[in-house]
Amino acid sequence: MNSTNKRFGIAIHGGAGTILKALMTKEKEAAYHQALQNALDAGYALLQSGKSSLDAVEAAVRSLEDFPLFNAGKGAVFTHNGTHEMDASIMFGADLSAGAVSGISSIRNPVSLARVVMEKSGHVYLSGVEAENFGKLQGLVCESPAYFYEESRYKQLLDIRDSDSYQLDHTDKTESGEKKFGTVGAVALDAMGNLAAATSTGGMTNKRFGRVGDTPIIGAGTYANNKTCAISCTGHGEYFIRAVVAYDISCLMEYRGMSLEEAARFVVNDKLVKFGGEGGLVGMDADGNYVLAFNSEGMYRGIKNAEGINEIKIYES
Ligand code: ASP
Repeated sequence: MNSTNKRFGIAIHGGAGTILKALMTKEKEAAYHQALQNALDAGYALLQSGKSSLDAVEAAVRSLEDFPLFNAGKGAVFTHNGTHEMDASIMFGADLSAGAVSGISSIRNPVSLARVVMEKSGHVYLSGVEAENFGKLQGLVCESPAYFYEESRYKQLLDIRDSDSYQLDHTDKTESGEKKFGTVGAVALDAMGNLAAATSTGGMTNKRFGRVGDTPIIGAGTYANNKTCAISCTGHGEYFIRAVVAYDISCLMEYRGMSLEEAARFVVNDKLVKFGGEGGLVGMDADGNYVLAFNSEGMYRGIKNAEGINEIKIYES
């Protein structure tokens, strides 16, 4: 192993936004911590046993999708029509292979659907019922709407269903006073020196007309390139699409020679703020350096690496 290989690791997020300590119960905070630790452990164990970064990010995101408090997989937010339309993507930095899906309502783990799209379909991006049919043919686990139903999410929809507004997971109008983007994602570097990124979301409460955010758009919500970095975003998708956030960070590194930290801070805390795009991201470069950047009050986030770092944070500090 060379020095790069020794620096394998994984970073995850469970969404950014107005996450205020004053509004969080001890029990809920502990549940979030546990869910983030479980996801980090699931991904890290694979890296430690010599598995690829792709396996690690898929496993971490699956774990977050299965946890109902995050807006992805089980617990995804409701559309205007009272259904779920989930989006996900995955990318491998070694060869720039990528897979993405949108409008998914019956596959238990949309990130795994994105992975089979990448590896088995000959395409990059599939949507809707036909994407689900492809997943079924590939043997992925399906679920009924009852599996994805969470009462708190349904209440969020009822709060705004008769209005024109759509919401990013929570808004100030909810009784909790929270506003957050509960998308989940992971980036990893493996012992072979390969980077990967994956992101999964239910999108926005009350979304209509087949709205799709940045999560499944390669270069916007997700990007990985061994030459530069792996990035997974969370935030107001429309802004992240228009700012091509994940690829922008990669470009700043490749063409401007910026470090991951410099590029991510510039995009998240300067460019996006001026543009009006709230949110954040996790990133890792080919040397195992990582960044957990956001321009909102908080971001559910964690990092675990071969240097012995194992940290989970929710609020700003
Ligand atoms: N970025 C996601 C979207 O716009 C939302 C989120 O991050 O929670 O669909």
